[in-house]
Amino acid sequence: MSSQRTPSIYHSIFTLKCPRCRRGNLFIKKGMIVYTQMLDMEERCPHCDLKYELEPGFWLGSLWTSYPIVILIELPFLITALIVDGTAMWLSFLGLVLAFFIAWPLMLRLGRSLWIHLNVRYDHLREY
Ligand SMILES: [Zn+2]
Repeated sequence: MSSQRTPSIYHSIFTLKCPRCRRGNLFIKKGMIVYTQMLDMEERCPHCDLKYELEPGFWLGSLWTSYPIVILIELPFLITALIVDGTAMWLSFLGLVLAFFIAWPLMLRLGRSLWIHLNVRYDHLREY
């Protein structure tokens, strides 16, 4: 067994790591906010060989995990727009649109990471 300390599930989700070994990268380009090759993923984990797309259409399910992230990011702007009026309301809508385009990669990549972590368990007994 490896003497390396096991990364937590939260660390694994937010650093976009493989859910089974928590060491291999899910995406080809690292980082939460990237604007090129946003959804280009490794086919298999380079560390434990887990095939990431568990079944055809598997990633469509990540819409369920991306949606709450979108709500968390956009809700403050929407509530502010409903409370204030005039120029402040339009600035809030502008902030909503800007936040969406800036955080778009985060919503998609974190949504996929959450989705695969909900479907694949960490295997602490497996030798890598
Ligand atoms: Zn792995």
